[in-house]
Amino acid sequence: MTEMRTLKVALLGCGNVGAQVARILIDDAGMLASRAGARLELAGIAVRDVDAPRDVDLPRELFTTDADALVRDADLVIELMGGIEPARTLILAAMRNGACVITGNKALVAKDGPTLHEEADKAGVQLSYEAAVAGAIPILRPIRDSLSGDRITRVLGIVNGTTNFILDQMDTTGAQFADALAEAQRLGYAEADPTADVEGHDAASKAAILASLSFHTRFALEDVYCEGISSVTAADIAAAKDAGFVIKLLAIAEKLGAEGTKTGTKTDAGVSVRVHPTLLPREHPLAAVHGAFNAVFIEAENAGELMFYGQGAGGKPTASAVMGDLVSAARSLVLDGPGRAETTTGQVPAAPISAAVTSYYIGLDVADQPGVLARIAQLFAEHGVSIETMRQTIHRDSGSQTESAELRIVTHRASEAALAATVQAVKGLDVINTVTSVLRVEGV
Ligand code: NAP
Repeated sequence: MTEMRTLKVALLGCGNVGAQVARILIDDAGMLASRAGARLELAGIAVRDVDAPRDVDLPRELFTTDADALVRDADLVIELMGGIEPARTLILAAMRNGACVITGNKALVAKDGPTLHEEADKAGVQLSYEAAVAGAIPILRPIRDSLSGDRITRVLGIVNGTTNFILDQMDTTGAQFADALAEAQRLGYAEADPTADVEGHDAASKAAILASLSFHTRFALEDVYCEGISSVTAADIAAAKDAGFVIKLLAIAEKLGAEGTKTGTKTDAGVSVRVHPTLLPREHPLAAVHGAFNAVFIEAENAGELMFYGQGAGGKPTASAVMGDLVSAARSLVLDGPGRAETTTGQVPAAPISAAVTSYYIGLDVADQPGVLARIAQLFAEHGVSIETMRQTIHRDSGSQTESAELRIVTHRASEAALAATVQAVKGLDVINTVTSVLRVEGV
């Protein structure tokens, strides 16, 4: 019987995720060896402070501040430091040295994916980042491998647990955004500086990665249109609820047809990649994703609709995704097989946000006068935006003895450009007091 090979694993970072990865490497060494076909030896852990307390009890001698030296001598490098530098330089050095790299660094992959992939291809090593999108949920591998014989037409993802928690709190308790955010911070779901989450930047990185793999084209962060949730009000949530919708922050990557409509056909008019608060019918599968959970809903030509659900963050769940990549990369080294790589044969252009096609919810505060509804409906028709439903509620102000009406309109699918022109024209009508909200709707 031949002796089992030993592969040296360098771990960069020992925080929330890294500490759990180190624990699994040590505690489950036997299981990992049998699955990988090689012993996975944790050669060292690079950190900033070797004496800092850790979530897991780990041998002191494993720690080092010399990440460069650790990487130089490794077969497999797991980068869980976060940030762009020194993570980027260390990953590139590792791959040039022939090591396979596993990372959870969505910011780096979204920002510099092409360079990292080129270097991996050149070196003939695997670069994997399942943990970078939706934590524990196996989503990148199904897209890249399981669906590689199908044509994905649309991806809708709840890929940021913090914003899903906040919107869910607002939906279930009627809280305002600021109160729901404070609650998320108190429970540890939101950081002290929540900007990256609430302004949609974290979701935008994940949208770029999902779109790149789904459409076999490298989309950069700049290709992603991004709106966060900080302007969503309790009134928006209540109105949406009243109309049978829930508001979610969605990462959307969708193929547009030649005429700018969603067709699911083989035409390549571009891919719309975007992140924004979105109304979903309450019976849509993504509407049932509560708290800090994540889910990704995929539509493919032959597979139809698929949904992947689970924990999108947290040390242990994210470590699970890292370990899956690690075993797979180790097997490629043992079998001396080709590294698994993404393909970029699609080369579809990124469509501007004006070309995106979706339904819309529009809230209007209007004067309660005869003929108002007809004038508004006519304006929509003139701009080619067809109305699906229009609901009116009358408000009486007993103090000033005036009456106003609240109009809630849901449109059929229309382009962003047509909708923007319609809203602009509606604002110019003398009977309009305010446009209270304009939100996109999916899943109708
Ligand atoms: P974290 O808790 O902040 O840990 C970062 C670790 O990296 C720390 O151990 C830190 O060392 C080390 N580090 C940072 N800069 C370093 C440097 N310049 N040199 C050496 N070591 C350095 O981060 P995390 O939450 O585990 O996240 C790690 C990565 O996984 C990030 O890219 C993140 O986006 C991604 N991710 C995280 C989650 C999650 O739930 N946390 C989910 C999905 C993906 P010290 O401990 O000595 O300071």
